[in-house]
Parts: sequence; C-alpha cells; structure tokens
Amino acid sequence: MLNKGNKLYSIFTSKCPQCHEGAFFENKFSFNILKATETKENCPNCGLKYMREPSFFYGAMYVGYAISVAIAVALYIISAVFFGLDMKQSLIVIALGLFALAPWSLRLARVIWIHLFIKYQKDKSQRVK
Ligand SMILES: [Zn+2]
Repeated sequence: MLNKGNKLYSIFTSKCPQCHEGAFFENKFSFNILKATETKENCPNCGLKYMREPSFFYGAMYVGYAISVAIAVALYIISAVFFGLDMKQSLIVIALGLFALAPWSLRLARVIWIHLFIKYQKDKSQRVK
C-alpha cells in the first residue's frame, strides 16, 4: 500500500514530492527546531526546487495548525477520558505535548504543504543520480 508513487509514503518518509526519491530535509529528525526544519534547496535526485516562491513555506502554518488541533484533541481525550484528569491538568498535558511534538509537526506540515502543489512523476524517479 505505501510504496513509491503513493503520497503518504512520500510524506511519512520526507521525500521529494516529484520523484519520491530525494531527501526533503537537510538533517534527520532532531528536537532542535531550527535543525529539524532546515529544507534542502533542490531535490538531490530530480533537481526540483523546493522553495517554489519566496515565503512558500509560510503556507505550511495552516497545515501545522490543523495538525496541532488534532494533537490537542487527541491529548485531551487521552488525558481526560483515559486518565480522568480535570481541565487544568489536561491543558498542561496538551501544552507539554504540543511543545514536545513541535519539531515533528513542523516537519510534517512542510512536507504536506509541498505535496499539495506538486504531483508525483514516475519518469523523474528513474533518473540516475
Ligand atoms: Zn525529486
């Protein structure tokens, strides 16, 4: 199901949206937000320019907001329903959870954002490096 050519594969492995081969980020995941979200200029495999236009990744904020809301709802359900915490305690859990997951959600938001605009091209993925 999750093979090359599938957007979910490319999103969760942080690959180029056009060839699903080249890396999207400069570094592997880290909890340092600046390092974690550093994006390559171009795809090392097909040469796709990741920064489509100036400030292209500001739009990823909308995706990041949706991801944060989903995380907050999930954490609220887990803390209130399964652990029986009150509202104040749940808010602390949500704040800590969002803070801890920020590098991951920022990376995911950027990858999802660029995948909204660029389609997979099979011929690009077969180019020799
Ligand atoms: Zn590529």
